[in-house]
Amino acid sequence: MTASTRWKLLALASLVALGALGAWILWRGESVPTAAPAGVRVVIDPGHGGEDGGAVAADGTVESAINLAIARRLDVILTFWGCDTKLLRTEDISLHDPEAATIRQRKVSDIHNRVRLVNEEPEPRLISIHQNFFPQAQYHGAQVFYANGPLGQPWARRTQENLRACLDPENARAEKPIAHDVYLMNHVTCPAILVECGFLSNSGELEKLKSPGYQTALAAVVAASYLQCTQEEGETGYGSQGETSVLLHGMRQ
Ligand SMILES: [Zn+2]
Repeated sequence: MTASTRWKLLALASLVALGALGAWILWRGESVPTAAPAGVRVVIDPGHGGEDGGAVAADGTVESAINLAIARRLDVILTFWGCDTKLLRTEDISLHDPEAATIRQRKVSDIHNRVRLVNEEPEPRLISIHQNFFPQAQYHGAQVFYANGPLGQPWARRTQENLRACLDPENARAEKPIAHDVYLMNHVTCPAILVECGFLSNSGELEKLKSPGYQTALAAVVAASYLQCTQEEGETGYGSQGETSVLLHGMRQ
């Protein structure tokens, strides 16, 4: 099976699963959020790619591949829920300009291009997907960071809370402002979150992060958290009891 066929099948399977969930919500007499905020485009950034693989686990698992697997699922799910999306890379590549000659130049060009691809949108929201790594193996748990003001922080908090409630009740981490040395997050002008989905340095979490089912669950929680926030902002005209909370409750069962 080619990679492209595999992805089409995965997309189809995700849509069938989400369609069933949507039907269940309708059956309960709830309305389904069919329209994402008008004019807003969710830019999904699968961190690293190409010769910059990011962190590498003890078993050789490369961060950029896990980031892409989760980001592609996020793209499918958000699109299903009516969001306009832009996935910054769909394969294992760097986004540098062709004339960038050295590794350093390619790295700088790649990150500048990612900033431009976000900021050129009229009304973007950025979700950057990464994996954590720490020399001590005991650390685990997803961590959500945010940039840019009043929309970024509640969005990050909602995402962090949902990740804990749906996937990892032991995870006591709280959302944090992004560090000053993360170039992309510090140079985009829109609300932005960066999700470190877990630690490649923790063997138990590594096994989960490599699993397609867990990757889909992570993507579903991140997508639902975004939709929940847009409804709470009133951008879609829905009330504060977002229908996506039904999606999240469904996942907990
Ligand atoms: Zn990373």
